[in-house]
Amino acid sequence: MKYINENNIPTLQECLKHADETKELIIKKNALEEIPGLLDKFFPPNATVCLITDENIFRAAGNKVQKILEKAGKKIAGSHIFPGEPRLHADYKYVGMLKKWISSLPGSDNIVPISVGAGTVNDLVKCTSSELKIPYLSVPVAASVDGFTPNGAALLLDGYKQTLPCPAPKVLAADIDIIAAAPAYLASSGFGDLASKIITGTDWIIAAKAGTAGAPEAPAIDEVCWTMTQNGLLPALKKSVSAAKGDPQAIIALFQSLAITGFAMQYYKDSRPVSGSEHLYSHVWEMEDLCVDGVPVTHGHKVTIGTLAATAFTELFFADPSGPPPVPKGFQRPGKAARKAETEAAFKGSSACSGITETALNKLMDDRAAEKINQCFRDSWKEVRAGVMERLLPYREMKDLLGRAGCPLTPETVGLTRTRTIATARKAQMMRNKYCILDLAWDMGVFEDILAKMESSPVYLF
Ligand SMILES: [Zn+2]
Repeated sequence: MKYINENNIPTLQECLKHADETKELIIKKNALEEIPGLLDKFFPPNATVCLITDENIFRAAGNKVQKILEKAGKKIAGSHIFPGEPRLHADYKYVGMLKKWISSLPGSDNIVPISVGAGTVNDLVKCTSSELKIPYLSVPVAASVDGFTPNGAALLLDGYKQTLPCPAPKVLAADIDIIAAAPAYLASSGFGDLASKIITGTDWIIAAKAGTAGAPEAPAIDEVCWTMTQNGLLPALKKSVSAAKGDPQAIIALFQSLAITGFAMQYYKDSRPVSGSEHLYSHVWEMEDLCVDGVPVTHGHKVTIGTLAATAFTELFFADPSGPPPVPKGFQRPGKAARKAETEAAFKGSSACSGITETALNKLMDDRAAEKINQCFRDSWKEVRAGVMERLLPYREMKDLLGRAGCPLTPETVGLTRTRTIATARKAQMMRNKYCILDLAWDMGVFEDILAKMESSPVYLF
């Protein structure tokens, strides 16, 4: 991005200024000790608090928070401790339960919920607080996800994972020692979620160009968001690579970078700065409840495989420096009825089927509109390709980086197969109206051709 000064890597505090809902994020050793002071500074006086956590996290951090609050003379109206096993699902049904519980507590008219947990507990409390219209304080216990700080909660509702709009935590207190002691798979999940922002960046470059040719949901790049989420991304990934080994400096780098992506979302009020095609893959697998030996695969690990698949797709699409992939002979764009049948077949039996079909039909282009996009990319191929290739981490480098961070590298590790992973692109392209590489390839008529190349490649997704 020539007009953006890539050397400007803003600090956490500078990024926090762009977030209009989160007022403070403390990340340091003994951050829990700051909680009473944070309550005094940012929440109504004499507020009662309640804790929401799970059994394992209560042992690791919740009881410490409780003791600190008691020592400071804070009133704790109650603690809700979810069972440690089986792993808690980010299911909207718990929001209703938590709302009822909080409303029944003494002092519930002036109460501050405190979530002590990783992404799931935080998202449940975020949504509950939003529905009760009360701000909350978050104590993250792992650098596991980009979801601590955005204004939205990713919860399972009506059969599929939806990002429900709700305010971000007002304050976060992240204790480095606690986060460093969290299981390694949580930090590698967070690392995968951060690495995915490389694709988010290339998708935005693609969308910005397609938008000039009339593509829907394809906004120009926002300079503030880009500066926050993309400028320092590669250095941040390099600094975070040993987070899963419990290296405190790596943990700080990872957590801060993930938090900043959430601040960008608070600023932009949309997920464009923080997720692209790689997250669409993971949304499909979230709907399919991807598990290994009955244990749900983490969001970040699904995103990791989505990132590898999207990197391969992007690399194949932009492989030829002389121009876009040629449209296969005899290609015919499906009409509305054929596309409806395709989408309904892909999501048959899912309660999300009708919504997704509507989305896929809304963004279905006719030949004329698609030709405008084709022409635009043919005309600007060199410039767009250079922009994408400058940002895209080549597949081998991405895989190496993810491997060093302890992330899963093959579809089988997360309960998928290679063929299923490649085929997921079809469903991923249908489900959201948010222009990305999958839409571009689809609109240009080369989507199936790219998938066939990926399938026959000896490199990708092994
Ligand atoms: Zn994510």
